[in-house]
Amino acid sequence: STPVATFCALLTAARMGLLVKGGDVLESLGEIKAVAFDKTGTITRGEFTVDIFDVVGHKVQMSQLLYWISSIESKSSHPMAAALVEYAQSKSIEPKPECVAEFRILPGEGIYGEIDGKRIYVGNKRVLARASSCQTVPERMNGLKGVSIGYVICDGDLVGVFSLSDDCRTGAAEAIRELASMGISSVLLTGDSAEAAVHAQERLGGALEELHSELFPEDKVRLVSAVKARVGPTMMVGDGMNDAPALAMADVGVSMGISGSAAAMETSHATLMSSDILRVPEAVRLGRRARRTIA
Ligand code: ADP
Ligand code: MG
Repeated sequence: STPVATFCALLTAARMGLLVKGGDVLESLGEIKAVAFDKTGTITRGEFTVDIFDVVGHKVQMSQLLYWISSIESKSSHPMAAALVEYAQSKSIEPKPECVAEFRILPGEGIYGEIDGKRIYVGNKRVLARASSCQTVPERMNGLKGVSIGYVICDGDLVGVFSLSDDCRTGAAEAIRELASMGISSVLLTGDSAEAAVHAQERLGGALEELHSELFPEDKVRLVSAVKARVGPTMMVGDGMNDAPALAMADVGVSMGISGSAAAMETSHATLMSSDILRVPEAVRLGRRARRTIA
């Protein structure tokens, strides 16, 4: 292969906002047969808004609950955390991260923190199952469409529920359709609920070939390697800390640079420096051209 041709292709990639870690990555891009997309922050904008926030039971008051969870969430970099902190601030409650005694991330589930001597969990239904003695959820949270539902558990009791929504990125449906026209199939891998995955698929006009939900980081790795075995060379596109191992497992791991986590950027083979998901099919096309000129 000629170094000049490789250099030119790397420059072209950089000009379109794709930072590629080496010439061999470009060649692999041209061979891609499948793309695995993360949902939150990749297919969707990762900018949640809180639609519903309710206190459950009589143990705590709204202002206290918002103070606790915004303080704990302000230590998390998950896109849902920012929405919850903003929601509390919109109710004139300022988070105090310095008052959080202990903080832990529970991958694929949520977070744990201690504040005012209380042990608090915030997260999805896995967290509810793990931390709450009672699994009964208020009636109005059942049957909500297209939202992610979160639970707050304080010392073993469910004390709060909330719903969050997030829009698909512009160009997401078009990017997946373009990949399909190039003979490349797209699948969705998400840590979020099945309902949220189905909702994203509806918004994309059914463009995705497979949906996989409620995944832990290691499930994403397993599914990427299954797609590789079944379909062929596979790209993974993701932004989160929970995507990092799957990005490393893919033939080409592409991280989202602007909004993404440092861990995703480190383990990926290329970083997209914009939120323009249409650059994904464009990168494959560039890889195909590079393969022809470099070979
Ligand atoms: P994804 O970003 O693909 O949804 P994650 O593994 O980061 O996957 O999270 C899985 C699920 O865990 C989220 O959809 C959410 O329900 C819950 N979760 C994760 N982090 C938080 C957090 N900081 N606050 C509330 N819920 C969270
Ligand atoms: Mg994500």
